[in-house]
Amino acid sequence: MQYQSTRDKSVRVSSAYAIKNGLAADGGLYVPEQIPQLSLEEIAALAPLSYNERAIKVLSRFLTDFSEDEVTNCVNKAYNKEKFETSEIAPIYKLDENVYFLELWHGPTCAFKDMALQILPHLLTRSIEKTGETKEVVILVATSGDTGKAALEGFRDVDGTRIIVFYPADGVSDVQKRQMVTQEGNNVDVAAVCGNFDDAQSGVKQIFTDTEYADVLARNNFMLSSANSINWGRLVPQIVYYFSSYASMLKNEEITLGEKVNFVVPTGNFGDILAAYYAKEMGLPVGKLICASNENNVLTDFINTGVYDKNREFKTTTSPSMDILISSNLERFLYHVTGGDDVRVSAWMNELKTEGRYEVPELTKNKIKEIFWGGCSDDAETFTEIEKVNNKYGYVMDTHTSVAKNVYEKYLAETGDNTKTVIVSTASPFKFSDSVLAAIKGKEAVEGKDPFDLLDELAESADLMIPAGLCGLRDKQVIFNTTCDKNEMYDVVSHMLNLA
Ligand SMILES: *Cc1c(COP(=O)(O)O)cnc(C)c1O
Repeated sequence: MQYQSTRDKSVRVSSAYAIKNGLAADGGLYVPEQIPQLSLEEIAALAPLSYNERAIKVLSRFLTDFSEDEVTNCVNKAYNKEKFETSEIAPIYKLDENVYFLELWHGPTCAFKDMALQILPHLLTRSIEKTGETKEVVILVATSGDTGKAALEGFRDVDGTRIIVFYPADGVSDVQKRQMVTQEGNNVDVAAVCGNFDDAQSGVKQIFTDTEYADVLARNNFMLSSANSINWGRLVPQIVYYFSSYASMLKNEEITLGEKVNFVVPTGNFGDILAAYYAKEMGLPVGKLICASNENNVLTDFINTGVYDKNREFKTTTSPSMDILISSNLERFLYHVTGGDDVRVSAWMNELKTEGRYEVPELTKNKIKEIFWGGCSDDAETFTEIEKVNNKYGYVMDTHTSVAKNVYEKYLAETGDNTKTVIVSTASPFKFSDSVLAAIKGKEAVEGKDPFDLLDELAESADLMIPAGLCGLRDKQVIFNTTCDKNEMYDVVSHMLNLA
């Protein structure tokens, strides 16, 4: 199978090449030229299998230039009992007759980004070999919190790779900062950048696009690559857990073969829900894909009106991983839903860049509405939903998952659709214990408290164990204390790589 650029379909590359390069040279994203199909019989055959065996079946359909041994090797290095707290990897929690949570946060950093970032380093190192590249890969990451830690954990001690993470000095939570500056591994580096996320992000972008610096790196046998969610290697592992959840429900006799299931996905960059769309197009029996946003509801409006308009105030919410106004992966969906209209997609992306807005035609609008239902919830609704579910079921959701649950309630009220529904749960409640405790016990209960004490408090009040990845964080040794100005980021990279 070959991959095309969303902005020029005459570009055709292997999956290894797409994963190595991340972004196409024309600025487009790589997409598979056809979407592989799984029959109902093949889906039924997934039911008795382990998560890893299911992953191998699904990934092999897309990574056709990898041997089965190579795929198996990558999968087993990513999803195992050293990295995940449950052998099920992505377990399902049944809330009531119709509603299930797909828990994607049992990996090392307690958020769903582990599902992709645990395997990406292995896919990437294989891809580098397969394309004949001999340089050492340097992953540069600018992070607003979750991605940096997940990338550090994924790439730590992976041969042939180095990883450097920049985080904004005044832009991450205490817990997130502590997770990063205590990172262990012989190929990792972490630095704070004075300023906000945009400062860190634009500094990293500048280094990425600097061809002179690329030459300097090449002379020292290094090349840069990205662990960003535009990379196909981050998206394709996410398709697996939609099949896996359906297979688990079949196995537990919650559904019959062919029965449709809805998925509710808390969305920021449109990566996770796009993976659900691929699963549906591959033949997974899916009813509606419910796209849940927080107050940055640019996608809700897009699904309802066909107008994508990022000209609006950026809101800082209690579900920070969804605080996004440009959902990069939507470009891939637009390409598929227009039947591969690269000219149109390029024009829309150009309008987005120059005017911050574009509108799709009626036919496309209707197709989008057939597939998706869009809704949003604000912080107050998100907190109330956490409290309600905790009171009624004793199940504790994090803020991102709660956005999804609240949007599902709105969907149900509007449509009365009683199809069995899987809500994608993207973070452990411990990762956002201040908000979760505030929702359960009231704001006064958390005000002024040490964030590490709140982990203990949540464990006690919810009768849960603190996940291994967050346990003992308070007492872990700080390894990285570099802080730099935005214009010193080059020096930091050069110094970390010992460049001549
Ligand atoms: C990144 C993230 C999301 C949003 O996922 P996208 O693929 O960007 O749509 C939702 N919840 C959590 C906890 C995240 O870290």
